[in-house]
Amino acid sequence: MVMEKLEVKKDIVEKIRDERLKRVLSGEEKPPYSVLKRKLYTIQPSKLKKGLPRDVESLCPECGRIIKAHLYEKDGKVMIRKECPEHGVFEDVYFSDVELFLKFEMFAIDGIGLENPQTKLRVGCPYDCGLCNLHFSHSSIVNIDLTNRCNLRCPICFANANAAGFVYEPSYDEVIAMLKLLKKMRPVEPPAIQFAGGEPTIYPWFFEVCKAAKEMGFPQVQVATNGLLMANDPTFAQSMWDSCIGRVYCHLDGSM
Ligand code: SF4
Ligand SMILES: [Zn+2]
Repeated sequence: MVMEKLEVKKDIVEKIRDERLKRVLSGEEKPPYSVLKRKLYTIQPSKLKKGLPRDVESLCPECGRIIKAHLYEKDGKVMIRKECPEHGVFEDVYFSDVELFLKFEMFAIDGIGLENPQTKLRVGCPYDCGLCNLHFSHSSIVNIDLTNRCNLRCPICFANANAAGFVYEPSYDEVIAMLKLLKKMRPVEPPAIQFAGGEPTIYPWFFEVCKAAKEMGFPQVQVATNGLLMANDPTFAQSMWDSCIGRVYCHLDGSM
């Protein structure tokens, strides 16, 4: 029943997308960004396997070796089961709502990937990541970690901030070089840059790199922050606005 309902919705989604594509290609409708027009030329229905149950490739969480995995439905959830010859069986929740999972799959599309990847395909995914030319899509929101330092020490830190035993902090020139490289991505350059960390607002050239990203023409500049500097100093938020930051992600669960 769920699958039938989703099939009907899928037909509607595809019809709306095809009609919109026709209008954009005929010039009748203007896309929101010029990049979107180029993107629409290069998309096609996804060739990835869909539906449940299905077999996929995954990694052993202990040794990182590529192993076969099985996705299946159980109690309204999507589960994953995989077995490493050395480290045994792993079973976990893969997605907590099966209906939503199948609904998301309807929107899967393939692009043509990168025309000019920086990494050559040698061993295969995920060991050549960088992006390699196995990707069907381009980078959309690009995360650039400005530092692995942070002004908090949350025990649940997803980024291992302050815990690596060394400081990772690219120089201003290195961040600008990264941005320039992203601008050269083809066929589509990333529409958004998100500065992250650690805590990106304590990076010495934080405002400067945000401004530079905007001046280089990235449509949206975002920052993922614990919000501490904004909370302690309202003028900091104003300076962020003045530096062309268009979106702020605050992770409140980690800011206690
Ligand atoms: S604020 Fe975020 S980056 Fe900093 S320690 Fe907490 S979770 Fe990690
Ligand atoms: Zn293993």
